[in-house]
Amino acid sequence: GVAMEQLGFVRGFVRLCNDGWEQGWHERNGGNLSYRLRPEDVDTARKFFDKEPRPWTPLGVEVPTMGGAYFLVTGTGNYMRNVASDPSRNIGIVELSAAGDAYRIVWGLDDGGRPTSEFPTHVMNHAVRAAATDGACRVIYHAHPTNIIALSYLLPLDARTFTRVLWKAMTECIVVFPAGVGVVPWMVPGGADIARATSEQMKTFDAVVWASHGLFVSGADFDSTFGLLHTIEKAADIYGRARAMNGGSGEFLNTITDEGLRQIGREFNVKINEAMLDF
Ligand code: 13P
Ligand code: ZN
Repeated sequence: GVAMEQLGFVRGFVRLCNDGWEQGWHERNGGNLSYRLRPEDVDTARKFFDKEPRPWTPLGVEVPTMGGAYFLVTGTGNYMRNVASDPSRNIGIVELSAAGDAYRIVWGLDDGGRPTSEFPTHVMNHAVRAAATDGACRVIYHAHPTNIIALSYLLPLDARTFTRVLWKAMTECIVVFPAGVGVVPWMVPGGADIARATSEQMKTFDAVVWASHGLFVSGADFDSTFGLLHTIEKAADIYGRARAMNGGSGEFLNTITDEGLRQIGREFNVKINEAMLDF
């Protein structure tokens, strides 16, 4: 018969993990991924769940709107590099309590694995992005991409500066992330504080930079979520290269004007975040 690993949402999840590894965004155990199961996913997956679910564990934050949800999630300390060759050891499905303040593993994370240390941030982001997208958002992805991290050493740590630099680095960026990107200053990872700070940014943005650490992105499916992170990272790469070619200066001879950005918004029919533009 068919195994959990062959279900479509598990295959999409595993593919994203492997693609991110191949991009170089996941040194050692760096990065993590979660997918909020649809009711029909839970129906097809349920026959593979543990007969005896494992004990409840406090989540560390309280997220009532996610109560009863199921998430496929990477395990803490596990390597994205190893997900494709051994899914049930490196990823697992967890069920959230009705109050949204505790979880239990119902499949996978074999041999005592636990969900990612960033699980509080994932669940809070799911809640905020589901609310912002009428329930469409299902994927939250955290990675350590080289160029966006490097950029966080150069630029003032505010959303407007990052958004403008990235929008102007590559023409179609504003179509891919028309709200812009948020920024969270350097914080200790893995806890409730960074979860709250990130989900606050996620009310406005579907992508949030963690200074000196990486990026969190969200999306309706694996393709759009991976594509969003890939686009942001490529824009950061282009900006960094242009700046290096320019002797370290960010004052370029040519750029995309604010009027140009407005024109793209009109032509592509996307609602751009006007607060990021000069008038
Ligand atoms: P985990 O191994 O707990 O997922 O942590 C990796 C990471 O990137 C923390 O920010
Ligand atoms: Zn990280």
